[in-house]
Amino acid sequence: MNAFRLVVVGAGISGMTAALMARRAGADVTVATFGFGGMQLSQGTIDVLDVPRPLDGMAALPATHPYHTITADSIREGAKALAEYVPLRGTVEESTTFPTALGSLRRTALYPESMAAGAVRKGDGDRHYVIVGISGLKDFYPRLVAENLCGLNIQARAAAVELAAPGDTALAYSRTLKEPGAAEGLGRKLAEIAEPGEYVGIPAVVREAEWKRIQSACPNPVFQIPLPPPSIPGLEMNERLREACSQQRIRMFLNSKAVGLVAEGSRVTAVKVAVAGATKEVPADYVIYAAGGLDSGAIELDSHRELHDTVFGLPVAHENELLHGDFWGEPQPLYAAGLNVDEQMRPTGEKGPVYTNLYAVGDMLAGAYRAREKSGEGIAIGSAAQAVASIMRSEA
Ligand SMILES: Cc1cc2nc3c(=O)[nH]c(=O)nc-3n(C[C@H](O)[C@H](O)[C@H](O)COP(=O)(O)OP(=O)(O)OC[C@H]3O[C@@H](n4cnc5c(N)ncnc54)[C@H](O)[C@@H]3O)c2cc1C
Repeated sequence: MNAFRLVVVGAGISGMTAALMARRAGADVTVATFGFGGMQLSQGTIDVLDVPRPLDGMAALPATHPYHTITADSIREGAKALAEYVPLRGTVEESTTFPTALGSLRRTALYPESMAAGAVRKGDGDRHYVIVGISGLKDFYPRLVAENLCGLNIQARAAAVELAAPGDTALAYSRTLKEPGAAEGLGRKLAEIAEPGEYVGIPAVVREAEWKRIQSACPNPVFQIPLPPPSIPGLEMNERLREACSQQRIRMFLNSKAVGLVAEGSRVTAVKVAVAGATKEVPADYVIYAAGGLDSGAIELDSHRELHDTVFGLPVAHENELLHGDFWGEPQPLYAAGLNVDEQMRPTGEKGPVYTNLYAVGDMLAGAYRAREKSGEGIAIGSAAQAVASIMRSEA
């Protein structure tokens, strides 16, 4: 039997999770993507919902929220699939709380090992933290972090290490700490600063391999605290998924914009992709539309305040009022604009699914305030898993 052909549009977390899951299930997968997705800007963690037990919290969301269509099992499946390529700790069943670069606390579901020792749990009241800044690195002020943590009754003090890099960003320090012996050198400096039993928080400037080298030279537990973007843990997650796609022999059309489709009746037969000055028709038995919605420009608001799906012309669902005047208040309804989908993740119009073999995932879906709810990554991996499961049922 020939493998079925899946075309995925977009290589953010939803597109790559779907591509890898479908490939694992035997599909011949092509991904067309251009630009950067949200992952490089993210913390390198997976948020499902900003409540202590995310999957239990889904039921309380408004009726139009995608978590009423995406099942808890799909989120579990998406997380399992992701974990095959990106080593993550934690569970989607229960949030873990970590210090932020401002010294507040933030919940997430899955997180890299380099952040694990920073978990703040009830019953850890006796734990002492030392938050260590790096001289010359912008956007991380250890005193601010430590003082704010103390305000939350978490015992923390601030310190700093001298470290030169050819720039003041996380990227510059990340390159410097890749040099032979540099990570171990930082670990030794941290060991000199830390008192016995203290947990050492550092700005997230290294990938997991370098964190392990830092930790190997410091007897105290060392953890990374995410920084404003571009984020090294987010970049590493993106690199690992891209690498996995390449290893799994997923065809990647980079810098290639999907610009339309070819259909026979209600079935899509090809995706039109703009490549090197021409438009190529990529044949498809199934299409997963993972182009990121409003944030990535796949959905646009025109000067008449009309919303459009710029790639496939699908109907965009939205509230009547797109923007309200209270810019410091509730999130703008515009942010929740997107595609309505059925339980198979197929975009729907007034008469049901627009195409029988076109699926939409991640930020393409309507009804969520992702940044505020901390739901974007959970929606991405859950909808990807649910779309691939629907395709596999069609193939059975
Ligand atoms: C400021 C901000 C803060 C956020 N904070 C959080 C948070 O704290 N927690 C959380 O869970 N979520 C948060 N989110 C949301 C989260 O980042 C997204 O939900 C998630 O990254 C979506 O992934 P995706 O794969 O659906 O889309 P994306 O990551 O946007 O990927 C889509 C990809 O498709 C590409 N593309 C677009 N159009 C085309 C086309 N025509 N052809 C080919 N490729 C195309 C894009 O360039 C992009 O590479 C935040 C978002 C923003 C903007």
